[in-house]
Amino acid sequence: MAYLPFESRRAPVYQDVPDEKWNNWRWQLSNRLNSVEDFEKVFKLTDSEKEALSTPGLFRVEITPYFVSLIDPEDPRDPIRKQVIPTSAEMVPFTAMMEDSLAEDRHSPVPGLVHRYPDRVLMLVTTQCASYCRYCTRSRIVGDPSATFSRAEFELQLEYLKRTPQVRDVLLSGGDPLVLAPRILEEILSRLREIPHIEIIRIGTRVPVFLPMRITSELTEVLEKYHPLWMNIHVNHPNEISAELAEACDRLTKAGIPLGNQSVLLAGVNDNVHVMRKLVQDLVRIRVRPYYLYQCDLVEGAGHFRTPVGKGIEIMEGLRGHTSGYAVPLYMIDAPGGGGKIPVGPNYLLSMSDHKVILRNFEGYITTYEEPTDYRPEDAAPTKWRRLEPGQEGLTGMLEGRQMFIKPEGFDEIHERGGIQHRLKDASKWVPLGIGAGDEADEAED
Ligand SMILES: *Cc1c(COP(=O)(O)O)cnc(C)c1O
Repeated sequence: MAYLPFESRRAPVYQDVPDEKWNNWRWQLSNRLNSVEDFEKVFKLTDSEKEALSTPGLFRVEITPYFVSLIDPEDPRDPIRKQVIPTSAEMVPFTAMMEDSLAEDRHSPVPGLVHRYPDRVLMLVTTQCASYCRYCTRSRIVGDPSATFSRAEFELQLEYLKRTPQVRDVLLSGGDPLVLAPRILEEILSRLREIPHIEIIRIGTRVPVFLPMRITSELTEVLEKYHPLWMNIHVNHPNEISAELAEACDRLTKAGIPLGNQSVLLAGVNDNVHVMRKLVQDLVRIRVRPYYLYQCDLVEGAGHFRTPVGKGIEIMEGLRGHTSGYAVPLYMIDAPGGGGKIPVGPNYLLSMSDHKVILRNFEGYITTYEEPTDYRPEDAAPTKWRRLEPGQEGLTGMLEGRQMFIKPEGFDEIHERGGIQHRLKDASKWVPLGIGAGDEADEAED
């Protein structure tokens, strides 16, 4: 990895710690910083930070010595510092702030298992992390030192998964699955692997970023027994990419685990197209594929991190085409109320007619694409694979002709206007005459 330019840093207060301790993840975890006194040994706190750290009921604070060392002690606006050191801005409420803005708890058939999308689930396996992000989307449950992995809930989750064959992808999250005791992590992975319809397992983790020394060969040897295994890490700023992170990612990649990155768009941290371009390019250098860039959720304590959506679109405009496609994430808004992730971005399709589209590229070059006039939809590739999950087909169900409209709740009632049943209100008039035609061939093959 010597060919990579990333640095290794240690705050002056840790200069005399022997390497065996510094590189030991247990030492890093048990020497985490969480108080005014701890932080004052590394840098001078602002009044706002001191006030927050002295506030009872604050979302948990813990930072590994490794991660705190990446902060520039002279810069109160340091982008890493802002992610992990609380300020009094956390106590400021804002319009639309919610406890569970993504309605995850409402989409949980059993505790800690969120089944929002047709074929995949989010499984919350612990409430603990190596360090805590101030904008945590699950601050309502994360960090509680009394609540960690629950065996009883894990059994309920497994039972649900066994009886739900549509789930082919399980995403382990929390909290951070990689802070679990290695034995428990292995038990989770092996029990999931016993379920035949679970095709892939994913881990969402910030451990490589907060605690890269946790990615030991013992750990990767466990992980690689449970392939296909994918992993998403969480880096928000180029300053987080150190020699240690690069090496941890190299170990994971060599264990055959494809790595992605999920960032959150954060005011004052990475709300700048040039910061973000450097971040995604550096991620690709360490073989991490930028996956999603999230709009900040409407979560308590995160108001001061929020940006307008236009900032995210501006960033996407400055990435697509300007750098490698591999380096460009999707910009996602996780819909409040439980609507799930919605991709947004600049528009490249400017107009269209019945036989051509007008497009623009990243440079502002405007062009036409002439479409075929002899395309035969009925000759499209045949398939023997099942179609989408009934009830969750969305617009594909409409495009494929199984549904003609989707109505808001209460639509029929409001348009009844309290009227009477009369001769012109014959229900058969609203059954589309041609709908579904041409679809039967596919169905026969299911
Ligand atoms: C993000 C998320 C997933 C995974 O979504 P992908 O777009 O497939 O990465 C699954 N379930 C829930 C509840 C999620 O929030």
